Amino acid sequence: MKWTVIGYWGAYPEKGEATSAYLLEQDGFQCLIDCGSGALSRLQRFVDVKGLDAVVLSHYHQDHIADIGVLQYSWLVQNSLHRTNDKLTIYGHGEDETGFSALTHQFTEGIAYQYDDTLEIGPFQFTFQRTTHPVPCFAIRISNGKQEIVYTADSSFDQKLVRFSSDADLLISECSFYHGQDAAKAGHMTSAQCGRLAASANVKQLLLTHLPHFGDRQDLVTEARQQFEGSIQLAYEGWTWQG
Ligand SMILES: [Zn+2]
Ligand SMILES: [Zn+2]
Repeated sequence: MKWTVIGYWGAYPEKGEATSAYLLEQDGFQCLIDCGSGALSRLQRFVDVKGLDAVVLSHYHQDHIADIGVLQYSWLVQNSLHRTNDKLTIYGHGEDETGFSALTHQFTEGIAYQYDDTLEIGPFQFTFQRTTHPVPCFAIRISNGKQEIVYTADSSFDQKLVRFSSDADLLISECSFYHGQDAAKAGHMTSAQCGRLAASANVKQLLLTHLPHFGDRQDLVTEARQQFEGSIQLAYEGWTWQG
């Protein structure tokens, strides 16, 4: 399976880029994980939007869902032009009725997942873990039967996340703050906590994402490295992992 970073900024996108959005692919199946601001534009550098097979959302904060509306319009236009006659499935949690109901549109269908669900989506199994965040939010673990990827979504550090991430081949961790800052207050993690999470969970590789708009972001890697000896990288548009 292949993971490509489409957008990696927290809160809002820098010029010409996007907030949280990731493309997961295997055997021609294309799944978008989160659909933040700028995602629809940046995604088209990599795939044809009407070729998407599914979308999975971690939560309903704008930096993860802002482009769902225009994604729905793109499917409406493409259907009107008879370039596709499919409906796009968008998976989101059902704990926020307003957020969930917005996933269903003329050519998109919202499907609710629960925290203890295992979903078969294309060639993947998805499992979910509630995170510690100001609104309901779910970390996502993806398996293809051989490799395992864990995406923390937005969360402060907690032991549940350590258990949920155990032995993953790739951990994609939100990293909103630098070491020494109070990330937990905002429901996020520091670089050092990302490193601690990766080390405690014994993952093979760590990708830092959902990055802050301040400071020298290379310091995030240096700070995480104090805690975790494995490979650590900083997300950028087009970063890929193939397992
Ligand atoms: Zn966020
Ligand atoms: Zn959030």
